[in-house]
Amino acid sequence: MTTLDTPDPSADGLAAALPELSRAQASLNATIMVVGTTVVWASPMAVALIRATNESQVVGREVFEFVAPRSLGTAQSRNQNVRAGSAPRPEQISLLTVDGLEVLADIASMPVRWEGALASQVTLWPVETAADGSAETTESDRDITDSVIVTDASFRVLSFNQAAERLYGWTESEILGVSVTEAIPMAGDERDDRVKLQSLADNGRWHGQTLQKRRDGTVMPLFTSATLLRDADGLRLGAIFVNRPLGSDRSLADWPLIEQIRRGIERDEFVVYYQPIVRLETGVVVGVEALVRWQHPELGLLPPAAFIGTAEQSGLIVELGDIVLGAACEQAQCWREAGHSLQISVNLAGRQLVDAALPERLAALMGRTGIGDGQLWLEITETSVVHDLDLASACLHRLRELGARTSIDDFGTGWNSLHSLHTFPVDELKIDRSFVAGLGVRASDSAIINSIVTLGRELGASVVAEGIETEAQRQTLLQLGCTIGQGFLFSRPVPAEQLDLG
Ligand code: C2E
Ligand code: MG
Ligand code: MG
Repeated sequence: MTTLDTPDPSADGLAAALPELSRAQASLNATIMVVGTTVVWASPMAVALIRATNESQVVGREVFEFVAPRSLGTAQSRNQNVRAGSAPRPEQISLLTVDGLEVLADIASMPVRWEGALASQVTLWPVETAADGSAETTESDRDITDSVIVTDASFRVLSFNQAAERLYGWTESEILGVSVTEAIPMAGDERDDRVKLQSLADNGRWHGQTLQKRRDGTVMPLFTSATLLRDADGLRLGAIFVNRPLGSDRSLADWPLIEQIRRGIERDEFVVYYQPIVRLETGVVVGVEALVRWQHPELGLLPPAAFIGTAEQSGLIVELGDIVLGAACEQAQCWREAGHSLQISVNLAGRQLVDAALPERLAALMGRTGIGDGQLWLEITETSVVHDLDLASACLHRLRELGARTSIDDFGTGWNSLHSLHTFPVDELKIDRSFVAGLGVRASDSAIINSIVTLGRELGASVVAEGIETEAQRQTLLQLGCTIGQGFLFSRPVPAEQLDLG
């Protein structure tokens, strides 16, 4: 499928003069790296944007395969410009997803060095389209398009897209080379600008609601998302500012959910609750399951159902999943230091399992927090592995070598349950709570639980029942040979400090 075009004789010289961009930095946005016209790398968010299930559906492909026919000319000329060493101004193009849908996006491209070669770093921001899904832009749609401003390392404007021209009233030629805080000052206090740039320089990202001044002095509320571009040595290359107008009366809850999640991650709003996993006979706590919650500034404490789906679709689950893994392993370390040796179970989403860098990050985390062999359990569901069984399975085997164990969550609910058993290293089966709820109600449910217990025994896997709410359910599970479980009967998920470890 790869189409390699004729190599650029000048590309090597140009590449040598450019700083190498780091992967971590490129991962902060929907970014793809293109060498010649071939995609050589795609961030999880870019993979999600073009609705692919993993990087392998994108890497090695001709970049123009992901461009809608009407934007092809634009995309080709941008590619040529970057290969000649220039950074074309951000503009809007129509992307083509792997399933053939058109998605409108703002695109910024710049030449960088990527693993030694001259590459085009292409960053994409999806533009919201009309409710009917049409990607056709009308004048009014254009008004809400994100304005994108690219600066150099001193935050002087390098390019200003058309949306920015419309938004601020300056033309690009008037604003080139001007400091971004002079060009688009925040209304109110100059200190706000300094805080924004300082935090951008320190953390590599800055998000927030801002009040900015137009050329004519009027003030407008915006949501600003700024990302620093750094090379592999951490040297600052420049920054990208994306500004989205907000109606002055719009509350945070009206923002697109993906934007809210991103902001929530920035502001540490995600917290981890723990539900004890106990011996059904004695009630002794043997482990805990980490369950993420979102302490939303306006909506209060939100359950995973409110955001996990969007986090998965957008690729943000990779960042969010790392937060949960980090918090859970650190908590396990605290408990160990307090004399409690507990197994810790963490739910993994499909996207995390196809992230080739996960084993490496997890190894570092386990080393740092002293998580021993068999202490960390990774819960996966069939929906999480169904996209790419081979990749997920390879990842799980690698994680097992690191000492992590695999638990099949919601076991018995998917069509593929039995198939997964010989593909993955299965250490535990978690009986879905619907079967536990059916005990004493549906005769088939005790038969199903019975066979899961037998299956677990034959596989050498432990069996854990979920959603135990009544004493009667506990008794019946014990009679059926299930000895470990969790549920509201013992404890709801609670913050670590409220957990009763007995
Ligand atoms: P799960 O992994 O099957 O987690 C068990 C769910 O059952 C939790 O819901 C828990 O609060 C609930 N539960 C526990 N005991 C009882 C009970 O006795 N009765 C009833 N009715 N429910 C009980 P929660 O916390 O809302 O999580 C829902 C799902 O969200 C989880 O299902 C898991 O699939 C997902 N999730 C949670 N945290 C994460 C995370 O960090 N990453 C990912 N990828 N998914 C997560
Ligand atoms: Mg679970
Ligand atoms: Mg479950």
